[in-house]
Amino acid sequence: MDIHNDEVKEFQLKLEGILKEFLEQGSIEVYGNLRIVVTSFNRPSRITFQKGNTIYVCIKARGYPDSVLRYIIAHELAHLVVKKHTWRFWKIVGIIYPEYERGKEELMRIAREELMKKNA
Ligand SMILES: [Zn+2]
Repeated sequence: MDIHNDEVKEFQLKLEGILKEFLEQGSIEVYGNLRIVVTSFNRPSRITFQKGNTIYVCIKARGYPDSVLRYIIAHELAHLVVKKHTWRFWKIVGIIYPEYERGKEELMRIAREELMKKNA
């Protein structure tokens, strides 16, 4: 993938802005500094994951709508509290980003489209 460095930086700043907004709402408290790293993943189906205090986001998500980016960040933030996708997990996602279902659906739609393109 040929991606300009400015594009990575710009996307990272955007994600950090969303993260900052969520943290400032005060619905979730995080110890230590959270970091966002924009990178490219080997597994094309994967868009994000979280390890320690770092949230990794795939560069290909840079064109995704804001609702999806917010959902991604809320999802990974919730994983700091609950590891698995239990009802408690989704409750926390909803507290961080109440409209998360819209972003989740949109992301699923994008994933389906990407899969169709790949198989075309
Ligand atoms: Zn998850």
